[in-house]
Amino acid sequence: MEEIPAPLPLIQKKYSLEPDMIFGWKPKIPKSSPIPLDFNLNPLPTCKDSPEQKFPIIYHGYRPPNSHIMHKLFSNKSTYNYLIKSSISIDIEYNYKHAALSSLGRYNGMKKEFTEEIEFDSFFECGNLDKAIKYSKNEYDLYMRSDTNAYGSYKWFYFQIINKAEDRVIKLNIVNFKEQHSLFTQGQKPMIKYNDQSWEQFQGPVVYKLSKLNKVVKKGTYYQLTFEVPMKSLDSCFLATTIPYTASELHQFLDSMPSKIQLGSVGRSLSGMTIPLITITGNNSKNPKKYIIIQARTHPSETVASVLIQNCIQYLVSNEKSATKLLKRYVFKIIPMVNIDGVIAGNSRMSLAGDDLNRKFAEPDTMLHPEVLDIKSLVDRCNNENGVLMFIDIHGHSKKKGSFMYGPYFPLHSSTYFNIRLLPKYLSKKTDIFRYYSCKFKSEKSMRQSARLVMSQNLHIKYTYTMENSLYGYIDQDRNSHSFKPHNFKDLAKNLIESIYKFTKYTDPRKTQKSPKGRHKHNLQDILEENDQAYSSSESDSQSESEEDCIEAKNNVVNAIKNFRKDIVRKENSSSTNKTLYSANKKIHSQNQLGANKNLPTVNKRMPSPQKYGSNIEKGVMKNSAQQVMICENKSLSFYDEKIKADVSNSLNSDITFDKSGQRISSVQKKNYSKVNIFEMFSNRKEKGFVRYHSGIKKSLNFPSFYPKLMKN
Ligand SMILES: [Zn+2]
Repeated sequence: MEEIPAPLPLIQKKYSLEPDMIFGWKPKIPKSSPIPLDFNLNPLPTCKDSPEQKFPIIYHGYRPPNSHIMHKLFSNKSTYNYLIKSSISIDIEYNYKHAALSSLGRYNGMKKEFTEEIEFDSFFECGNLDKAIKYSKNEYDLYMRSDTNAYGSYKWFYFQIINKAEDRVIKLNIVNFKEQHSLFTQGQKPMIKYNDQSWEQFQGPVVYKLSKLNKVVKKGTYYQLTFEVPMKSLDSCFLATTIPYTASELHQFLDSMPSKIQLGSVGRSLSGMTIPLITITGNNSKNPKKYIIIQARTHPSETVASVLIQNCIQYLVSNEKSATKLLKRYVFKIIPMVNIDGVIAGNSRMSLAGDDLNRKFAEPDTMLHPEVLDIKSLVDRCNNENGVLMFIDIHGHSKKKGSFMYGPYFPLHSSTYFNIRLLPKYLSKKTDIFRYYSCKFKSEKSMRQSARLVMSQNLHIKYTYTMENSLYGYIDQDRNSHSFKPHNFKDLAKNLIESIYKFTKYTDPRKTQKSPKGRHKHNLQDILEENDQAYSSSESDSQSESEEDCIEAKNNVVNAIKNFRKDIVRKENSSSTNKTLYSANKKIHSQNQLGANKNLPTVNKRMPSPQKYGSNIEKGVMKNSAQQVMICENKSLSFYDEKIKADVSNSLNSDITFDKSGQRISSVQKKNYSKVNIFEMFSNRKEKGFVRYHSGIKKSLNFPSFYPKLMKN
């Protein structure tokens, strides 16, 4: 039996992540090695650390030291059946519950003297509870564990409570959320599973507000979620952000699938897990079949993505007409759990290496991001074989309601401008859950490394989408909010597949004459004519479609496009109210042109008028109104109050990376803030600002006073 080496600093063993994270780079890890797991890169103080308050820590969640131990411990559980082939067998004497203080100064599990009143537990797959502190007789402060080898995303909680005392109401404060505009402020509630019942939405009121942690924490702003759980004596309940969907559950589901699906693997994750790949297609046809690739769960806390993809698979293997027809002409390649390591570990967003995999698609590291490399080579293979028609990346959204899509940018004169919008348009016609007006078609520079844009720009797949689905629910036509129910995902999956089918009938018709070269489809007449062609020709190719079906489908397509066109015209009209702004911008733009500086940032249409932000902006850019970016150049800054002065001064001790009209510029400014010549600010809703550091960390600035006044001087 081999012994597991303890994670050691880089200089000794060359594969610890901790010191490397501190120095800002990461080592190459041999695939067979255990991955050291560090959960302490952002050590949060507790309210216990504040001088006037002393509360006992009664529970410490388990923190596996490395990936091998994590797998071994979880796979001991009868419910755990994932396919890990570890070359090292481990025999761990692991006294999990009621353990004495370990050499690291941590209890694992409950502190014994409190087990008479309550027991917390998160020692299971996807579990995430790092600490529980007893605040008063019936009130506990809880901390989510940070993601492995990361600074903390803090969104995902999943733990169990057993009430050992008499019947009572237990007040829980989960104190280390990071998001300000969380869905918990808009009606979302935790999910709860009492005893042997099934998961349901927590019924009582919940409060999401600034966290008590802010009093003792040095960096960043935290939020807390507070709710009261009524519990009888010896009641047990599980609580989670959303209904958990584990790697084991995925395997159980896949095992139950009929032979119609082919189960394979994309490759192995960083920790050695099999990443499942599902291939679904229909009877062989003579024509070569293009691929439609769908992936989900890059972000572990977005469990709705798993629910949706499971429903999509179920619908595809059903004998529904649109599914059968689609499978006659296409091969579906589905990767249902991209970040399987993160899911098992109970991470919120990151991979085991502590990286957001959806920001690693352009330049994945050969050792640290095998998941991304394997997916990219799969797509490459499909591309070389018969081509990939479409790529969809399914996510969950923690701030917005409903479902919506992001797609790449195409200019208005491009034929793809309309085509790229067709799928979301069809979907929105089918269901209230899908909101066309939440969709965006942009190729943002900040998303350059995302799966969607890499598939579009580097791997040249024309139709690439990120499909976002709220972690909470949707808004109906009367603007009432509803939390998602299981049948909503069943319907959404059906609608998605049916919409893909409609989309393919329009955009990828068989035996259709190609449209004349150079002729763009932005004219409605063209679209309709082409649609007729596409439709009738694909008809002759299809044997089983009834005539009634055809007419209905045809009308649907025509109506969808008509409405689509109307909507676009309406949208354009409504934006004409910004005309005043436009002319002000033009003025600035022409001034900039005269300035004869070749490095001028491009002035966007939504540049604010100079009157509003001070008339002597020398050069500036303001991007769209949702996320405004302003750059001042050749301009000394003066400050209105000491707080702002300190903030900015502080921020300039580090390197800052600047965005400037699509170019990335690095600038080093040390200490002397008055000599700043390039400065970048972001603002959301004009009330918050932050400076982005070279390291990617954002620092908040006191914006309401800072923002306009800075520009005036
Ligand atoms: Zn996501």
